[in-house]
Formats: sequence, structure tokens, C-alpha cells
Amino acid sequence: MKYLGMLFFVLFVFTLGVLYAIIGEGDFVNIIDTADGTFNYNTVDAFTSSALANMQPLPHISLSTPSDLDALDASGESEIERDIFGALGEVIYIYDTETKEIFHEKLDDYLCGVVFAEMPSSFEVEALKAQAVAARSYSVYKALYSSESERAQHFGADICTDSAHCKAYISYENACLKWGEEYISPFWDKVKAAVSFTSGQIIVYDSEPAIAVFHAISNNLTESAENIWGGDVPYLVSVPTAENENAEAIKDFSTLNIYKPEEFKSKLVSNGFREDFGGNPESWVGEITLNSSGRVDNIKICGKIISGKRLREIFSLRSTDFYLEYKEIDGEFIFNVKGYGHGVGMSQHGANLMAQEGKNYEDILLWYYMGVDIINIYDN
Ligand SMILES: [Zn+2]
Repeated sequence: MKYLGMLFFVLFVFTLGVLYAIIGEGDFVNIIDTADGTFNYNTVDAFTSSALANMQPLPHISLSTPSDLDALDASGESEIERDIFGALGEVIYIYDTETKEIFHEKLDDYLCGVVFAEMPSSFEVEALKAQAVAARSYSVYKALYSSESERAQHFGADICTDSAHCKAYISYENACLKWGEEYISPFWDKVKAAVSFTSGQIIVYDSEPAIAVFHAISNNLTESAENIWGGDVPYLVSVPTAENENAEAIKDFSTLNIYKPEEFKSKLVSNGFREDFGGNPESWVGEITLNSSGRVDNIKICGKIISGKRLREIFSLRSTDFYLEYKEIDGEFIFNVKGYGHGVGMSQHGANLMAQEGKNYEDILLWYYMGVDIINIYDN
């Protein structure tokens, strides 16, 4: 019975997910702001489109036993069609979308490169640990449950380095080349400690690894998978989060997208909008309907209902948590946007705030992923 929801979800996501996967959630990695020398907050909602679009009903595979791990063969490229448990402990195979090559790394070494690329390493250690566990859960899921077609997209590998498809990743060597070893080294050590501390730990729901999607910033509530992808995932439901109360401390918590009427119109028209833009621009925007997490479900524009998600894509808004108005005095349409990302799963900034309040990584994970357990894949 528990798979019915999953199955329902797959049906929806297969129809909606492909477009979403193409659009992705951005294409950024952790970068350094040269102006002040600190890490810029700059992430994507990785762990979303690809895994969810390809989510399969989970086969019953026990996660690991010592004998499985003993049987690992960590030897290299010829082992792509290896024992499935190979990915859990010793190696994960990664398709590098830049070099077009497959490489393999020990799972935790790979995860250092992911956590470094996905979360500012200036964040609290407990937030980094939560990110490491989320990333490990996702990686284990991909290694165990990638469909044949999904694996084919990675030329046989488990996962890729495209942040819009799987997860962002940067190697230590490349990070050093980019920003200098002296600068990078302490941050890398901090990330490495978070990964090592949580080694083997993943989150599971009903004993199956969770697709631990995450995003950068929510407002008051995170988003449910149901609201955004149309299918219920029991551990990806809306929960309160504290970013709004700490908005001034979060860079770009609120952002504005401003358009002159002609620009506003042409963006919609070039995206297939065929309604009549007659009259005063003030009359173009009608009723705004919010969903259960306070994000825009849909808006009426020139009489046509258009979803918040579609508007986010067309106008490159950072989230669907926005207010749209026409300011007659300036002759401009203004999207006032809060947060960053689809809003599902762990909020990275929310995780950092929880850590600042003294919560540990387990508290953070159990807060953002409803009803999950944290297990160690190396335990019996
Ligand atoms: Zn991928």
C-alpha cells in the first residue's frame, strides 16, 4: 500500500518532470565573492528534477550487510556493472558533464565535493553535516535505484556533476585552482569533517533511502512535493521554517524583478501567451491564488489563469513565493519575491539558523524531512 503514493507521484512527475528537468533550478555552485572575500550564497535546488522525474517504485533491497561490503570491488572503470552495493561503501561512479568522462571516488570523498559546491562552507558545522547526510541519502538512492534510462544518461555512471540534473560537485584540485589552496583548505577541512562525522548515515523513510531534495531559502513554510510536483511524498511536506524572522541576515532573501509593460508582455508572448493585452496595464493582472504554503498557485493575467510555477520560469523568479503588482506611478510591473528555490525539503538557510540556535544535524533533518529515520548503511 505504501507504494501507491509513490506510484501516483511517478505518473505525475513523468509528465511534468521532463520540462522541469530541462529548465532546472539554475546552474550555480558555491562561488567566492571577490568583493568581500567570503563565500557567496549561491546554490541550486539540486536533488530535484532528475531523481524525482525518474523516481521508481523502490525494489526491496536490504541496504547493506557486512558481507555485501566485503564483496565490493573498488577497482575501477571496468566495474560499472558492478555489484549494486559497490556504490554504498567504496565507490560511486560519477559522470563529469564538463569533461564528458566517468570517474569514481570513495563515496565520502565525492560527498566533500558535493557539500562544498552545494552549501556555503561558512555555514554552521551542524548544517553542513545535515547537508552531507542529505547528499549521501540522495547518492545512495541514485546508486541503488537509477533506472536503466537514467543510468544511460550518465553513460553507465550513478550520478552526474550537472547541478540542474543531479548535484553540483567540485574537486579539491579544481577548487584550489579556482580560488587558491591557502584560501580553500580550511573550508575544505570543515566540510570534510562534516562528511566524516556522518559517514554512512542516510535518511530513510519506511526503510528506503529518501530522495532528500533541498533548496536554498524559504519564507515561513517549506513547500510540499505535492504542491509543486503534483504527487504526495510523505516525507516532503510543508513545515515551518524561520528565515522570515531572520530575513535581514540572509543575503537576497527578498528580490525584485521589474518590467516595463512592453517587456512584461513580450516575455509572456514569446512563451506562448496568446491573450489580448488591451487597456491599461493595471488591468492586466487579476486575482492571485496562493497555495497551502503561501506560494503563488496561480494568477489571472488578461483573463487567463497561469501557474506561479510557469511565471517563475518565464520571468526567472527565484521562487514562486512572490507578489506581483503594477505600479502606475513608475509604469512598472514588480515581482516582489521571497526565498530561493522550489522550497521542497530542507531549507539550507533554515538549517543554518537551526544550527545557530543550537540544534544538531539530526534535529535539522528530522525537522525538514517528516517521519524519516537516520540510519547507518554500515550497521547491520
Ligand atoms: Zn545527472
